[in-house]
Amino acid sequence: MIPVSEAIKFIKSETFSLKSETIDLSESIGRVLAEDIFSDMDLPPFDRSQMDGFAVNSEETRNAPAKLKIIGESVAGKGFDRKLKRGEAVRIMTGARVPDGADAVQKVELTRELNGNFVEILEPAKPKRNIVRRAEEIKKGEQIFRKGERITENMIASIASFGYAKVKVSRKPIVSILATGSEIVDVSEKPEKDQIRNSNSIMLEAFARKTGAATKVLPIARDDISNLKLQISDALKSSDVLIITGGVSVGDYDFTKPALRELGAEIFFEKVSLKPGKPAVFAKLNDKLIFGLPGNPVSVAVTFCLFVRTALLKMQGAENIELKKGFAVISQKIKGAKERDSYLPVFVETNKKGNLIVESLRFTGSSNFIAFSKANSLLFIPQGVSFQAGDVAQILFLP
Ligand code: AMP
Ligand code: MG
Repeated sequence: MIPVSEAIKFIKSETFSLKSETIDLSESIGRVLAEDIFSDMDLPPFDRSQMDGFAVNSEETRNAPAKLKIIGESVAGKGFDRKLKRGEAVRIMTGARVPDGADAVQKVELTRELNGNFVEILEPAKPKRNIVRRAEEIKKGEQIFRKGERITENMIASIASFGYAKVKVSRKPIVSILATGSEIVDVSEKPEKDQIRNSNSIMLEAFARKTGAATKVLPIARDDISNLKLQISDALKSSDVLIITGGVSVGDYDFTKPALRELGAEIFFEKVSLKPGKPAVFAKLNDKLIFGLPGNPVSVAVTFCLFVRTALLKMQGAENIELKKGFAVISQKIKGAKERDSYLPVFVETNKKGNLIVESLRFTGSSNFIAFSKANSLLFIPQGVSFQAGDVAQILFLP
């Protein structure tokens, strides 16, 4: 039995890098950048007005009210090209270029138009008032994002602003998902006596997609070793990663490990000091990664998040490949496993004082995916440890 940290080390060192590809920016959410992103222009590209009003020389408004001649206008998309002289003002709109000779904009509410194209500036306009200076947001040539960052909705406007209609990202890992078990039937079927529906495949598909992968869900495999071997070798032909669920324990009908061995796979670990998820298997065959996850849906979720997710992000060249960690206060007594580290699904909430509080779910075991569906974090309990209310513990945020 190896600790979780060692299992993750194996995964990191055995995971290869995928090639990159260039795709439309609009398709890039969730993908990992394979290039640095630079600004190709100053932003704003000119001194920009933040208000509708009048561009003025602040000096001349110091003893406001001040009467100035309106000599033209500057609108978004078409600035005013002549330089202001003494006694002059330019009508200006939000987003428009501030003309030379002006160093402030007085907002329209603090002005009054007079007859004959004059304006009265009612209050002094301080220098730089209501102006965003050229390059104040970013200078041409500055780096904005690094290779390895995952593109999010909040990043996309910046990338677009610098002309990246296409971006270089890592290719998507192709992940095949194979649920095993003679008792498992498709979601669309009504289970007969002794049968249950396949909830693992669809969950893994969702998790894998969220991690940037392209997924293929394979037909459910019966507990039959020769058939399982065929399905595994077939799946490996067209994928980078194969996730198998079920059949990894030591029951008479658990054929995942024997099938992998007979196919000649190299097995790196097959027992992890982890609850839930102890019998998780990590192997490699023909340079493809294979994860054998225990069949219980909660074990599947936990082992996916700790192990498979890390591999999928690593192969995409992502910089943050492990679950984000934090600390939270325990709200009620909770006991970990004696001989394994526990990663229990919990609900973490911010209380009125602003502290993160662990609300443990009524977690009755690794088959309880109803409880898991409310979880947003995993609570880490080192082996043999019990937490009391008020203790501070490490948590890992679910993706
Ligand atoms: P196993 O790891 O094959 O011993 O399965 C452990 C438990 O998980 C059993 O109760 C299985 O019925 C259940 N299980 C296995 N595969 C799935 C699946 N695809 N969907 C839902 N439950 C499953
Ligand atoms: Mg089984």
